[in-house]
Amino acid sequence: MPLDPVTRPPAPAIATQLPDDLPAPPTQAQLEALVAELSSVAASSAGEAGKGLVLIRAGSELERLSRDFFSYSPVLTPLLQDRLAQLVVKASSTEQVQLVAGACARHRVPITLRGSGTGNYGQCVPLAGGVVLDLSGLNQVRQLDPLSGVLTAEAGCLLADLEQQLAPHGRELRLTPSTRRSASLGGFIAGGSGGIGSVRWGFLRDPGHLLGLEVVTVEPEPRLLQLDASASAPLNHAYGSNGILTAVSVATAAAVAWQQLVIDFSSWKAAVAAIRALPATAMVLNGLCLLEAAVARNLPCPGGHGQPPDGSSAPTLCPPADGHRLLLLAAPDALPALEPLLGAMGGRLVWQAPERGCRGVPLRELCWNHTTLHMRAHDPGWTYLQMLLPQPELPALEALKQRWGDDLLWHLEAVRQQGCQRLAALPLVRWRGPEALLELMEQARQLGALLFNPHVLTVEDGGLGVIDADQVAAKYAHDPAGLLNPGKLRGWSER
Ligand SMILES: Cc1cc2nc3c(=O)[nH]c(=O)nc-3n(C[C@H](O)[C@H](O)[C@H](O)COP(=O)(O)OP(=O)(O)OC[C@H]3O[C@@H](n4cnc5c(N)ncnc54)[C@H](O)[C@@H]3O)c2cc1C
Repeated sequence: MPLDPVTRPPAPAIATQLPDDLPAPPTQAQLEALVAELSSVAASSAGEAGKGLVLIRAGSELERLSRDFFSYSPVLTPLLQDRLAQLVVKASSTEQVQLVAGACARHRVPITLRGSGTGNYGQCVPLAGGVVLDLSGLNQVRQLDPLSGVLTAEAGCLLADLEQQLAPHGRELRLTPSTRRSASLGGFIAGGSGGIGSVRWGFLRDPGHLLGLEVVTVEPEPRLLQLDASASAPLNHAYGSNGILTAVSVATAAAVAWQQLVIDFSSWKAAVAAIRALPATAMVLNGLCLLEAAVARNLPCPGGHGQPPDGSSAPTLCPPADGHRLLLLAAPDALPALEPLLGAMGGRLVWQAPERGCRGVPLRELCWNHTTLHMRAHDPGWTYLQMLLPQPELPALEALKQRWGDDLLWHLEAVRQQGCQRLAALPLVRWRGPEALLELMEQARQLGALLFNPHVLTVEDGGLGVIDADQVAAKYAHDPAGLLNPGKLRGWSER
Protein backbone atom coordinates (compact mmCIF):
# COMPACT_ATOMS: atom_id res chain seq x y z
CA MET A 1 0.00 0.00 0.00
CA PRO A 2 1.26 3.51 -0.71
CA LEU A 3 2.19 5.36 2.46
CA ASP A 4 -0.40 7.69 3.91
CA PRO A 5 0.32 11.10 2.31
CA VAL A 6 0.37 12.65 5.80
CA THR A 7 3.19 10.40 7.00
CA ARG A 8 5.01 10.33 3.67
CA PRO A 9 8.55 11.71 3.99
CA PRO A 10 9.29 15.15 2.53
CA ALA A 11 10.10 15.67 -1.15
CA PRO A 12 13.50 14.21 -2.00
CA ALA A 13 16.54 16.44 -2.28
CA ILE A 14 20.11 15.77 -3.31
CA ALA A 15 23.29 17.22 -1.84
CA THR A 16 24.30 20.40 -3.65
CA GLN A 17 26.97 21.65 -1.24
CA LEU A 18 28.84 20.66 1.88
CA PRO A 19 27.09 21.44 5.19
CA ASP A 20 27.57 25.17 5.87
CA ASP A 21 28.36 24.74 9.57
CA LEU A 22 31.50 22.63 9.07
CA PRO A 23 34.30 23.61 11.45
CA ALA A 24 37.38 25.17 9.84
CA PRO A 25 40.10 22.55 9.27
CA PRO A 26 42.67 22.50 12.09
CA THR A 27 45.52 24.97 11.68
CA GLN A 28 49.04 23.82 10.95
CA ALA A 29 49.96 24.65 14.56
CA GLN A 30 47.16 22.46 15.97
CA LEU A 31 48.21 19.66 13.70
CA GLU A 32 51.91 19.91 14.53
CA ALA A 33 51.08 19.81 18.24
CA LEU A 34 48.95 16.71 17.72
CA VAL A 35 51.59 14.97 15.61
CA ALA A 36 54.28 15.80 18.18
CA GLU A 37 52.19 14.30 20.97
CA LEU A 38 51.28 11.13 19.06
CA SER A 39 54.82 10.65 17.73
CA SER A 40 56.29 10.94 21.18
CA VAL A 41 53.84 8.35 22.55
CA ALA A 42 54.56 6.04 19.61
CA ALA A 43 58.32 6.35 20.14
CA SER A 44 58.40 6.31 23.94
CA SER A 45 59.63 3.09 25.47
CA ALA A 46 57.47 3.81 28.49
CA GLY A 47 54.34 4.23 26.39
CA GLU A 48 53.89 0.53 25.52
CA ALA A 49 50.32 1.14 24.29
CA GLY A 50 51.43 3.68 21.71
CA LYS A 51 53.92 1.35 20.01
CA GLY A 52 52.84 0.42 16.52
CA LEU A 53 50.75 3.57 16.07
CA VAL A 54 51.25 4.57 12.42
CA LEU A 55 51.04 8.21 11.30
CA ILE A 56 50.71 9.12 7.61
CA ARG A 57 51.01 12.80 6.76
CA ALA A 58 50.93 12.91 2.95
CA GLY A 59 51.00 10.90 -0.25
CA SER A 60 48.82 8.43 -2.12
CA GLU A 61 48.12 6.33 0.98
CA LEU A 62 46.67 9.37 2.76
CA GLU A 63 44.53 10.08 -0.33
CA ARG A 64 43.32 6.49 -0.57
CA LEU A 65 42.40 6.38 3.10
CA SER A 66 40.41 9.63 2.76
CA ARG A 67 38.02 8.09 0.20
CA ASP A 68 35.31 5.50 -0.10
CA PHE A 69 33.01 4.40 -2.94
CA PHE A 70 31.13 7.71 -3.25
CA SER A 71 31.94 7.69 -6.97
CA TYR A 72 28.72 5.70 -7.57
CA SER A 73 26.99 9.06 -7.06
CA PRO A 74 27.71 11.75 -9.67
CA VAL A 75 26.09 14.11 -7.16
CA LEU A 76 28.52 13.36 -4.32
CA THR A 77 31.65 13.01 -6.45
CA PRO A 78 32.31 16.73 -7.10
CA LEU A 79 31.60 17.53 -3.44
CA LEU A 80 33.89 14.88 -1.98
CA GLN A 81 36.71 14.16 -4.38
CA ASP A 82 39.02 16.86 -2.98
CA ARG A 83 38.29 16.28 0.70
CA LEU A 84 41.37 14.90 2.39
CA ALA A 85 42.55 14.05 5.87
CA GLN A 86 45.47 16.12 7.14
CA LEU A 87 46.74 13.09 9.01
CA VAL A 88 45.91 9.38 8.92
CA VAL A 89 46.48 7.40 12.10
CA LYS A 90 46.37 3.61 12.09
CA ALA A 91 45.56 2.08 15.45
CA SER A 92 45.76 -1.57 16.36
CA SER A 93 44.43 -1.67 19.93
CA THR A 94 41.74 -0.11 22.09
CA GLU A 95 44.46 1.62 24.14
CA GLN A 96 45.80 3.27 20.99
CA VAL A 97 42.31 4.41 20.05
CA GLN A 98 42.00 6.01 23.50
CA LEU A 99 45.38 7.74 23.07
CA VAL A 100 44.35 9.18 19.69
CA ALA A 101 40.87 10.20 20.88
CA GLY A 102 42.31 11.99 23.91
CA ALA A 103 45.00 13.80 21.91
CA CYS A 104 42.49 14.90 19.23
CA ALA A 105 40.08 16.16 21.92
CA ARG A 106 42.84 18.17 23.63
CA HIS A 107 44.00 19.70 20.33
CA ARG A 108 40.43 20.03 19.02
CA VAL A 109 41.13 18.11 15.83
CA PRO A 110 38.19 16.35 14.08
CA ILE A 111 38.32 12.55 13.69
CA THR A 112 36.72 10.57 10.89
CA LEU A 113 36.63 6.82 11.48
CA ARG A 114 37.44 4.26 8.84
CA GLY A 115 36.99 0.50 8.67
CA SER A 116 37.60 -0.68 5.09
CA GLY A 117 36.25 2.38 3.29
CA THR A 118 33.66 0.54 1.17
CA GLY A 119 30.75 2.85 2.04
CA ASN A 120 28.89 4.46 -0.85
CA TYR A 121 27.84 7.80 0.62
CA GLY A 122 31.18 9.33 1.54
CA GLN A 123 30.53 8.25 5.14
CA CYS A 124 34.22 7.98 5.95
CA VAL A 125 35.37 10.99 3.92
CA PRO A 126 36.64 13.76 6.23
CA LEU A 127 34.58 16.86 5.40
CA ALA A 128 36.55 19.14 7.72
CA GLY A 129 40.08 17.75 7.40
CA GLY A 130 41.72 16.55 10.60
CA VAL A 131 42.47 12.91 11.34
CA VAL A 132 41.22 9.79 9.60
CA LEU A 133 41.50 7.06 12.21
CA ASP A 134 41.92 3.69 10.49
CA LEU A 135 40.64 0.90 12.73
CA SER A 136 41.46 -2.06 10.49
CA GLY A 137 44.22 -3.08 12.91
CA LEU A 138 41.66 -3.91 15.62
CA ASN A 139 41.11 -7.39 14.24
CA GLN A 140 40.81 -9.87 17.11
CA VAL A 141 37.84 -12.09 17.91
CA ARG A 142 37.17 -11.69 21.63
CA GLN A 143 34.54 -14.36 22.26
CA LEU A 144 32.07 -16.76 20.68
CA ASP A 145 29.56 -17.87 23.27
CA PRO A 146 29.08 -21.61 22.65
CA LEU A 147 25.52 -21.65 23.98
CA SER A 148 23.99 -18.51 22.51
CA GLY A 149 26.27 -18.12 19.49
CA VAL A 150 26.79 -14.45 20.37
CA LEU A 151 29.99 -13.20 18.77
CA THR A 152 32.11 -10.40 20.23
CA ALA A 153 34.87 -9.14 17.97
CA GLU A 154 36.96 -6.04 17.49
CA ALA A 155 35.54 -3.47 15.14
CA GLY A 156 38.20 -3.75 12.44
CA CYS A 157 37.66 -7.49 11.85
CA LEU A 158 36.82 -8.27 8.25
CA LEU A 159 33.43 -9.95 7.92
CA ALA A 160 34.95 -12.69 5.73
CA ASP A 161 37.52 -13.48 8.46
CA LEU A 162 34.74 -13.68 11.03
CA GLU A 163 32.82 -16.11 8.80
CA GLN A 164 35.94 -18.29 8.60
CA GLN A 165 36.33 -18.31 12.35
CA LEU A 166 32.64 -19.04 12.92
CA ALA A 167 32.45 -21.95 10.44
CA PRO A 168 34.18 -24.61 12.60
CA HIS A 169 31.62 -23.83 15.32
CA GLY A 170 28.69 -24.35 12.94
CA ARG A 171 27.76 -20.65 13.02
CA GLU A 172 27.62 -17.84 10.48
CA LEU A 173 26.83 -14.11 10.42
CA ARG A 174 23.13 -13.43 9.96
CA LEU A 175 23.57 -10.39 7.75
CA THR A 176 26.47 -9.38 5.53
CA PRO A 177 26.81 -6.74 2.84
CA SER A 178 27.74 -8.04 -0.60
CA THR A 179 31.17 -6.57 0.29
CA ARG A 180 31.62 -9.32 2.89
CA ARG A 181 35.14 -10.04 1.61
CA SER A 182 36.36 -6.47 2.22
CA ALA A 183 34.08 -4.76 4.76
CA SER A 184 34.75 -4.49 8.49
CA LEU A 185 32.38 -5.33 11.33
CA GLY A 186 32.48 -1.79 12.79
CA GLY A 187 31.98 -0.22 9.37
CA PHE A 188 29.00 -2.48 8.67
CA ILE A 189 27.33 -1.54 11.97
CA ALA A 190 28.09 2.19 11.66
CA GLY A 191 27.61 2.56 7.91
CA GLY A 192 25.73 -0.42 6.46
CA SER A 193 22.14 -1.57 6.62
CA GLY A 194 21.66 -5.13 5.42
CA GLY A 195 22.27 -7.28 2.36
CA ILE A 196 22.73 -11.03 2.07
CA GLY A 197 20.46 -12.49 4.76
CA SER A 198 17.97 -9.57 4.69
CA VAL A 199 15.35 -11.80 3.03
CA ARG A 200 15.35 -13.81 6.25
CA TRP A 201 16.69 -11.52 8.97
CA GLY A 202 15.57 -8.04 7.95
CA PHE A 203 17.94 -5.14 8.56
CA LEU A 204 20.78 -4.39 10.97
CA ARG A 205 18.73 -1.84 12.85
CA ASP A 206 16.03 -4.40 13.70
CA PRO A 207 16.30 -5.17 17.43
CA GLY A 208 18.07 -8.47 18.10
CA HIS A 209 21.05 -8.18 15.75
CA LEU A 210 23.33 -5.71 17.57
CA LEU A 211 23.68 -6.87 21.17
CA GLY A 212 26.40 -4.67 22.60
CA LEU A 213 29.24 -2.28 21.87
CA GLU A 214 32.53 -1.25 23.38
CA VAL A 215 32.93 2.46 22.72
CA VAL A 216 35.69 5.00 23.20
CA THR A 217 34.51 8.55 23.84
CA VAL A 218 36.21 11.62 22.36
CA GLU A 219 37.17 13.69 25.39
CA PRO A 220 40.47 14.90 26.87
CA GLU A 221 40.31 11.82 29.11
CA PRO A 222 38.46 9.30 26.92
CA ARG A 223 36.21 6.78 28.62
CA LEU A 224 35.89 3.14 27.57
CA LEU A 225 32.20 2.22 27.76
CA GLN A 226 30.45 -1.14 27.55
CA LEU A 227 26.97 -0.54 26.11
CA ASP A 228 24.13 -3.05 26.22
CA ALA A 229 21.81 -3.66 23.26
CA SER A 230 19.49 -0.73 23.90
CA ALA A 231 22.29 1.76 24.63
CA SER A 232 24.03 0.54 21.44
CA ALA A 233 21.04 1.22 19.16
CA PRO A 234 21.71 4.96 18.62
CA LEU A 235 25.24 4.16 17.39
CA ASN A 236 23.88 1.72 14.81
CA HIS A 237 24.02 3.39 11.36
CA ALA A 238 25.21 6.72 12.77
CA TYR A 239 28.24 6.93 10.44
CA GLY A 240 30.66 6.91 13.39
CA SER A 241 29.43 10.36 14.40
CA ASN A 242 28.59 9.51 18.00
CA GLY A 243 31.25 7.17 19.38
CA ILE A 244 34.26 5.11 18.32
CA LEU A 245 33.33 1.42 18.23
CA THR A 246 36.23 -0.75 19.33
CA ALA A 247 34.31 -4.03 19.79
CA VAL A 248 30.90 -5.27 18.67
CA SER A 249 28.64 -8.09 19.90
CA VAL A 250 26.20 -9.55 17.39
CA ALA A 251 23.83 -12.51 17.21
CA THR A 252 24.84 -15.23 14.75
CA ALA A 253 22.88 -17.99 13.02
CA ALA A 254 23.34 -21.75 12.63
CA ALA A 255 25.47 -22.24 9.52
CA VAL A 256 23.79 -23.51 6.35
CA ALA A 257 25.56 -25.02 3.32
CA TRP A 258 24.02 -22.43 0.98
CA GLN A 259 23.35 -23.43 -2.60
CA GLN A 260 23.63 -20.90 -5.41
CA LEU A 261 20.93 -21.08 -8.07
CA VAL A 262 20.40 -19.12 -11.27
CA ILE A 263 16.95 -19.10 -12.85
CA ASP A 264 16.08 -17.35 -16.12
CA PHE A 265 12.61 -16.08 -17.01
CA SER A 266 11.33 -14.87 -20.35
CA SER A 267 8.40 -13.03 -18.73
CA TRP A 268 9.08 -10.07 -16.40
CA LYS A 269 5.69 -10.48 -14.73
CA ALA A 270 6.38 -14.16 -14.01
CA ALA A 271 9.81 -13.27 -12.59
CA VAL A 272 8.31 -10.63 -10.30
CA ALA A 273 5.63 -13.11 -9.22
CA ALA A 274 8.41 -15.61 -8.35
CA ILE A 275 10.47 -13.17 -6.25
CA ARG A 276 7.28 -12.29 -4.38
CA ALA A 277 6.18 -15.88 -3.87
CA LEU A 278 9.41 -17.64 -2.84
CA PRO A 279 9.88 -15.88 0.54
CA ALA A 280 6.33 -16.91 1.47
CA THR A 281 7.21 -20.63 1.25
CA ALA A 282 8.73 -22.78 4.00
CA MET A 283 12.07 -22.86 2.18
CA VAL A 284 15.09 -21.34 3.92
CA LEU A 285 16.54 -18.61 1.72
CA ASN A 286 19.49 -16.30 2.29
CA GLY A 287 19.44 -14.15 -0.83
CA LEU A 288 16.88 -13.54 -3.58
CA CYS A 289 17.63 -11.01 -6.27
CA LEU A 290 15.93 -10.27 -9.59
CA LEU A 291 17.72 -8.56 -12.46
CA GLU A 292 15.99 -7.17 -15.51
CA ALA A 293 17.39 -8.78 -18.70
CA ALA A 294 19.39 -5.68 -19.71
CA VAL A 295 21.19 -5.80 -16.34
CA ALA A 296 21.66 -9.57 -16.25
CA ARG A 297 23.18 -9.55 -19.76
CA ASN A 298 25.95 -7.21 -18.62
CA LEU A 299 26.87 -8.97 -15.39
CA PRO A 300 29.47 -11.73 -15.08
CA CYS A 301 28.09 -15.22 -14.56
CA PRO A 302 28.59 -16.67 -11.10
CA GLY A 303 30.98 -19.47 -10.33
CA GLY A 304 32.42 -21.51 -13.11
CA HIS A 305 32.39 -24.99 -11.59
CA GLY A 306 28.75 -25.79 -10.86
CA GLN A 307 26.83 -29.01 -11.30
CA PRO A 308 24.33 -29.12 -14.15
CA PRO A 309 20.70 -29.15 -13.01
CA ASP A 310 20.18 -32.62 -14.51
CA GLY A 311 22.38 -34.09 -11.77
CA SER A 312 25.14 -35.43 -14.06
CA SER A 313 28.60 -35.07 -12.65
CA ALA A 314 30.28 -33.05 -15.44
CA PRO A 315 31.01 -29.53 -14.23
CA THR A 316 29.26 -26.85 -16.18
CA LEU A 317 29.57 -23.13 -16.63
CA CYS A 318 26.69 -20.85 -15.85
CA PRO A 319 25.37 -19.71 -19.26
CA PRO A 320 24.95 -16.02 -20.08
CA ALA A 321 21.52 -14.64 -19.15
CA ASP A 322 18.69 -15.57 -21.45
CA GLY A 323 15.99 -13.18 -20.23
CA HIS A 324 15.40 -11.82 -16.74
CA ARG A 325 17.52 -13.50 -14.09
CA LEU A 326 16.73 -14.60 -10.56
CA LEU A 327 19.73 -15.21 -8.27
CA LEU A 328 19.01 -17.35 -5.28
CA LEU A 329 20.86 -18.60 -2.20
CA ALA A 330 18.85 -21.46 -0.70
CA ALA A 331 19.31 -24.20 1.90
CA PRO A 332 20.03 -27.67 0.43
CA ASP A 333 16.70 -29.01 1.69
CA ALA A 334 14.87 -26.39 -0.37
CA LEU A 335 16.13 -27.86 -3.64
CA PRO A 336 13.66 -30.75 -4.13
CA ALA A 337 10.71 -28.37 -3.83
CA LEU A 338 12.33 -25.43 -5.59
CA GLU A 339 12.94 -26.88 -9.00
CA PRO A 340 9.34 -27.97 -9.77
CA LEU A 341 7.96 -24.80 -8.19
CA LEU A 342 10.18 -22.55 -10.30
CA GLY A 343 9.24 -24.54 -13.42
CA ALA A 344 5.56 -24.03 -12.66
CA MET A 345 6.25 -20.33 -12.29
CA GLY A 346 7.80 -20.09 -15.76
CA GLY A 347 11.45 -20.12 -14.69
CA ARG A 348 14.30 -22.26 -16.03
CA LEU A 349 16.97 -23.39 -13.60
CA VAL A 350 20.16 -22.86 -15.63
CA TRP A 351 22.89 -23.33 -13.03
CA GLN A 352 23.42 -24.40 -9.47
CA ALA A 353 26.44 -24.94 -7.26
CA PRO A 354 27.21 -25.06 -3.56
CA GLU A 355 28.55 -21.73 -2.37
CA ARG A 356 31.31 -23.22 -0.27
CA GLY A 357 34.30 -24.19 -2.38
CA CYS A 358 32.86 -22.69 -5.55
CA ARG A 359 35.50 -20.88 -7.56
CA GLY A 360 34.97 -17.81 -9.72
CA VAL A 361 32.57 -14.98 -8.89
CA PRO A 362 30.38 -15.83 -5.90
CA LEU A 363 26.68 -15.32 -6.62
CA ARG A 364 26.45 -12.98 -3.62
CA GLU A 365 28.86 -10.61 -5.39
CA LEU A 366 26.30 -10.07 -8.13
CA CYS A 367 23.65 -8.80 -5.72
CA TRP A 368 22.96 -5.64 -3.72
CA ASN A 369 25.36 -2.89 -4.66
CA HIS A 370 27.66 -5.30 -6.46
CA THR A 371 25.09 -5.17 -9.27
CA THR A 372 25.77 -1.43 -9.49
CA LEU A 373 29.52 -2.07 -9.36
CA HIS A 374 29.40 -4.46 -12.34
CA MET A 375 27.10 -2.21 -14.37
CA ARG A 376 29.36 0.79 -13.74
CA ALA A 377 32.40 -1.26 -14.76
CA HIS A 378 30.59 -1.89 -18.03
CA ASP A 379 29.45 1.75 -18.41
CA PRO A 380 30.25 4.43 -15.79
CA GLY A 381 27.25 6.47 -16.99
CA TRP A 382 25.05 4.44 -14.61
CA THR A 383 24.22 5.51 -11.10
CA TYR A 384 21.53 4.07 -8.82
CA LEU A 385 18.74 4.56 -6.29
CA GLN A 386 17.58 2.58 -3.26
CA MET A 387 13.93 2.18 -2.30
CA LEU A 388 11.39 -0.02 -0.59
CA LEU A 389 8.66 -0.67 -3.16
CA PRO A 390 4.97 -0.13 -2.43
CA GLN A 391 2.70 -3.19 -2.51
CA PRO A 392 1.58 -4.40 -5.01
CA GLU A 393 4.87 -3.67 -6.75
CA LEU A 394 4.08 -4.20 -10.42
CA PRO A 395 2.02 -1.02 -11.03
CA ALA A 396 4.83 1.16 -9.60
CA LEU A 397 7.52 -0.78 -11.50
CA GLU A 398 5.57 -0.38 -14.72
CA ALA A 399 4.73 3.31 -14.22
CA LEU A 400 8.37 4.19 -13.61
CA LYS A 401 9.52 2.07 -16.55
CA GLN A 402 6.99 3.73 -18.80
CA ARG A 403 8.29 7.20 -17.91
CA TRP A 404 12.03 6.42 -17.94
CA GLY A 405 12.37 3.58 -20.46
CA ASP A 406 15.89 2.23 -20.79
CA ASP A 407 17.25 4.96 -18.50
CA LEU A 408 15.90 2.89 -15.59
CA LEU A 409 16.78 -0.80 -15.27
CA TRP A 410 15.25 -2.85 -12.49
CA HIS A 411 17.25 -4.69 -9.84
CA LEU A 412 15.04 -6.04 -7.03
CA GLU A 413 15.99 -7.68 -3.73
CA ALA A 414 13.57 -9.62 -1.51
CA VAL A 415 13.78 -8.36 2.09
CA ARG A 416 12.00 -8.72 5.39
CA GLN A 417 10.91 -5.34 6.67
CA GLN A 418 9.38 -5.03 10.12
CA GLY A 419 8.35 -8.68 9.99
CA CYS A 420 6.78 -8.54 6.50
CA GLN A 421 8.16 -9.81 3.21
CA ARG A 422 8.74 -6.85 0.90
CA LEU A 423 10.68 -5.99 -2.23
CA ALA A 424 13.47 -3.45 -2.20
CA ALA A 425 14.80 -1.99 -5.45
CA LEU A 426 18.27 -0.74 -6.33
CA PRO A 427 17.53 0.33 -9.90
CA LEU A 428 20.29 1.35 -12.27
CA VAL A 429 19.67 4.92 -13.33
CA ARG A 430 21.22 6.51 -16.40
CA TRP A 431 22.75 9.81 -15.21
CA ARG A 432 20.97 12.63 -17.04
CA GLY A 433 21.70 15.37 -14.52
CA PRO A 434 20.30 16.39 -11.13
CA GLU A 435 16.88 17.58 -12.35
CA ALA A 436 16.07 14.22 -13.96
CA LEU A 437 17.24 12.36 -10.83
CA LEU A 438 15.01 14.52 -8.62
CA GLU A 439 12.04 14.02 -10.93
CA LEU A 440 12.54 10.26 -10.85
CA MET A 441 12.81 10.22 -7.05
CA GLU A 442 9.69 12.36 -6.70
CA GLN A 443 7.73 10.09 -9.04
CA ALA A 444 8.81 7.04 -7.04
CA ARG A 445 7.76 8.78 -3.83
CA GLN A 446 4.37 9.71 -5.30
CA LEU A 447 3.87 6.06 -6.22
CA GLY A 448 4.41 5.09 -2.58
CA ALA A 449 8.06 3.99 -2.64
CA LEU A 450 10.17 4.72 0.44
CA LEU A 451 13.47 6.18 -0.74
CA PHE A 452 16.85 5.62 0.92
CA ASN A 453 18.66 8.33 -0.94
CA PRO A 454 22.31 7.55 -1.79
CA HIS A 455 22.96 11.07 -3.14
CA VAL A 456 23.09 12.90 0.20
CA LEU A 457 25.66 13.32 2.95
CA THR A 458 23.88 13.04 6.28
CA VAL A 459 22.59 10.04 8.20
CA GLU A 460 19.10 11.55 8.29
CA ASP A 461 18.83 12.49 4.61
CA GLY A 462 19.84 8.98 3.57
CA GLY A 463 17.16 7.51 5.85
CA LEU A 464 13.65 8.68 6.58
CA GLY A 465 14.61 12.37 6.61
CA VAL A 466 13.85 12.77 10.31
CA ILE A 467 16.21 13.54 13.17
CA ASP A 468 16.69 10.71 15.68
CA ALA A 469 16.93 12.36 19.10
CA ASP A 470 18.65 9.27 20.56
CA GLN A 471 21.49 9.54 18.03
CA VAL A 472 21.99 13.19 18.90
CA ALA A 473 21.87 12.42 22.65
CA ALA A 474 24.54 9.74 22.15
CA LYS A 475 26.72 12.32 20.42
CA TYR A 476 26.33 14.71 23.36
CA ALA A 477 27.34 11.90 25.69
CA HIS A 478 30.28 10.46 23.70
CA ASP A 479 31.57 13.39 21.65
CA PRO A 480 30.62 16.58 23.49
CA ALA A 481 32.89 18.83 21.38
CA GLY A 482 31.40 17.48 18.13
CA LEU A 483 34.73 16.26 16.73
CA LEU A 484 33.55 12.92 15.30
CA ASN A 485 32.81 12.88 11.57
CA PRO A 486 31.66 16.54 11.37
CA GLY A 487 28.85 17.33 8.98
CA LYS A 488 27.31 13.85 8.87
CA LEU A 489 24.67 14.10 11.65
CA ARG A 490 22.12 16.76 10.73
CA GLY A 491 20.48 16.55 14.15
CA TRP A 492 23.74 17.77 15.72
CA SER A 493 24.15 20.66 13.26
CA GLU A 494 20.55 21.77 13.82
CA ARG A 495 20.53 21.41 17.60
C1 LIG B 1 30.10 -3.00 -4.34
C2 LIG B 1 29.47 -2.59 -3.04
C3 LIG B 1 28.44 -3.37 -2.51
C4 LIG B 1 27.85 -3.02 -1.28
N1 LIG B 1 26.83 -3.79 -0.76
C5 LIG B 1 26.28 -3.46 0.41
C6 LIG B 1 25.25 -4.25 0.99
O1 LIG B 1 24.88 -5.30 0.47
N2 LIG B 1 24.72 -3.84 2.17
C7 LIG B 1 25.16 -2.73 2.83
O2 LIG B 1 24.65 -2.43 3.91
N3 LIG B 1 26.15 -1.98 2.33
C8 LIG B 1 26.73 -2.31 1.15
N4 LIG B 1 27.75 -1.56 0.65
C9 LIG B 1 28.30 -0.47 1.45
C10 LIG B 1 29.47 -0.94 2.38
O3 LIG B 1 30.29 -1.88 1.70
C11 LIG B 1 28.99 -1.61 3.63
O4 LIG B 1 28.07 -0.84 4.33
C12 LIG B 1 30.16 -2.03 4.56
O5 LIG B 1 29.64 -2.76 5.62
C13 LIG B 1 30.95 -0.87 5.10
O6 LIG B 1 32.02 -1.40 5.85
P1 LIG B 1 33.45 -0.70 5.87
O7 LIG B 1 34.31 -1.41 6.82
O8 LIG B 1 33.96 -0.54 4.50
O9 LIG B 1 33.02 0.71 6.46
P2 LIG B 1 33.61 2.14 6.13
O10 LIG B 1 33.23 2.52 4.74
O11 LIG B 1 35.04 2.20 6.49
O12 LIG B 1 32.79 3.01 7.16
C14 LIG B 1 31.39 3.14 7.08
C15 LIG B 1 30.95 4.15 8.14
O13 LIG B 1 31.19 3.61 9.41
C16 LIG B 1 32.07 4.44 10.18
N5 LIG B 1 32.95 3.55 10.92
C17 LIG B 1 33.83 2.65 10.43
N6 LIG B 1 34.40 1.99 11.44
C18 LIG B 1 33.90 2.50 12.59
C19 LIG B 1 34.10 2.24 13.98
N7 LIG B 1 34.94 1.30 14.39
N8 LIG B 1 33.40 2.97 14.88
C20 LIG B 1 32.50 3.90 14.48
N9 LIG B 1 32.28 4.19 13.20
C21 LIG B 1 32.96 3.49 12.26
C22 LIG B 1 32.79 5.31 9.16
O14 LIG B 1 33.15 6.56 9.71
C23 LIG B 1 31.71 5.47 8.10
O15 LIG B 1 30.84 6.50 8.46
C24 LIG B 1 28.32 -1.87 -0.59
C25 LIG B 1 29.35 -1.10 -1.13
C26 LIG B 1 29.92 -1.45 -2.34
C27 LIG B 1 31.05 -0.62 -2.88
